[in-house]
Amino acid sequence: MMPTLQNHSEITIIGAGPAGITAALALGKKGIPCMLIDQDYFPREKICGDGLSGKVVSTLNKIDPEYARQLYQTGMATDSWSVRFYAPSSKMAEIDFRPSNQSIPPGFVCKRAGFDNFLLEKAINLPLVTFHPGIEVKKISRSMENLLLEDINGTWKMTTNLLLIACGANRNLIGTFDPAYPGIENEGIGIRAYFKNVSGCSARNAIEIHFLRELLPWYLWIFPFNNHSANVGLALPVRLARKQDMSLKRLLFHLIEKYPYLKARFSGAEMLGKPAAQRLPFYTGAFPIAGDRYMLLGDAARLIDPFTGEGIGNAMVSGMVAADVAALCYQKKDYSTNASQHYHEKVYQKLKHDLDIGLRLHQLAINPRLLNMVIGRASKSLKIRNLLTEMLYDTNTKGKLRNRLFHLKVFLRL
Ligand SMILES: Cc1cc2nc3c(=O)[nH]c(=O)nc-3n(C[C@H](O)[C@H](O)[C@H](O)COP(=O)(O)OP(=O)(O)OC[C@H]3O[C@@H](n4cnc5c(N)ncnc54)[C@H](O)[C@@H]3O)c2cc1C
Repeated sequence: MMPTLQNHSEITIIGAGPAGITAALALGKKGIPCMLIDQDYFPREKICGDGLSGKVVSTLNKIDPEYARQLYQTGMATDSWSVRFYAPSSKMAEIDFRPSNQSIPPGFVCKRAGFDNFLLEKAINLPLVTFHPGIEVKKISRSMENLLLEDINGTWKMTTNLLLIACGANRNLIGTFDPAYPGIENEGIGIRAYFKNVSGCSARNAIEIHFLRELLPWYLWIFPFNNHSANVGLALPVRLARKQDMSLKRLLFHLIEKYPYLKARFSGAEMLGKPAAQRLPFYTGAFPIAGDRYMLLGDAARLIDPFTGEGIGNAMVSGMVAADVAALCYQKKDYSTNASQHYHEKVYQKLKHDLDIGLRLHQLAINPRLLNMVIGRASKSLKIRNLLTEMLYDTNTKGKLRNRLFHLKVFLRL
């Protein structure tokens, strides 16, 4: 049965993933009403590697200093302290994450059904956040001073002054309203599965990134949980996936079988449930992510780091920025392009340097010899490992990242 809905909300958010929920949470905490809509009922699964980076932890801390600790205390989230990069040659370099707060682990691995629901419960406990699950928005159009949202047969309709679009890179929906929305070329595609009893995972629950020639510039991952299970998956550019003569599931098993060091680790492992695949709309360059009465958040704005594949942290950052800008629009009752344009500027001010570095590294990671050399040398040199840590994980050094890439090149004599 269709839930009863008010037919107008000043601020509406489509999509209760990390981007949309963060925006709802931040608006609710500012005392500004908003309506959050999702096609699914929660808890719901989301195909993901389940890796929560330091950026997720630091954004959680900004929303509420207790959230990261509470998430950890639920027991759903496995603490992770480092990342292991494996070169195509199978050489490995381990890089420590830097905790932003000594009492909270620097990163986690947490199933998305649990993480998203944890955040959602925080949001819907706020009196000014209204949540409506089970509504798939199929069309967005302009109607007088408002935007009009409709479901597939037009029986459900509502209007809104400002729309935060956080429904992933849902081209079928966003394209109904913004024909210039980027196409699917240059996307990645990933598949993830759960396994139990993968051997050789580190005691510090290092997340593992295995660069294999077949997937470059992307990789196979093993992200361990502390109950002897792991999220295992791979990602590769869509254009490479199209050239494969096997399904992604077969490719995953084929690669595990092909590389002896992986095969040995899966000899006693068992897959749990079915693998599932989804597109990765990673960043390929800036494009307009706000306009008259709307803002695009998270994957809808293509904010996935092209090198690491991380999207949750950036989705949450965009949710925070969207809430700040929406709050100003709400106070001034101005939802025009000029007002929402601040969102475009602020998001790229915060994220563009890192995303551009990610794009550059993504372009470099196509070269197996380069990966063998960088990871090989990093495995022996603390100095290179520290440089890599700063380049990849130190969110306070945005302005210096270009320099660090430069220093790394000099250091490696590239
Ligand atoms: C295989 C894979 C592995 C990944 N691994 C990682 C990882 O380990 N770490 C990491 O940081 N990132 C990872 N990512 C990226 C990460 O999953 C996304 O960047 C992140 O989920 C983006 O959050 P979001 O809120 O923008 O969108 P989503 O999390 O996709 O949420 C969008 C929400 O919108 C809802 N929705 C969609 N369409 C409609 C509609 N028409 N009407 C109503 N509701 C709608 C959906 O139900 C969903 O709840 C991975 C992605 C993939 C595909």
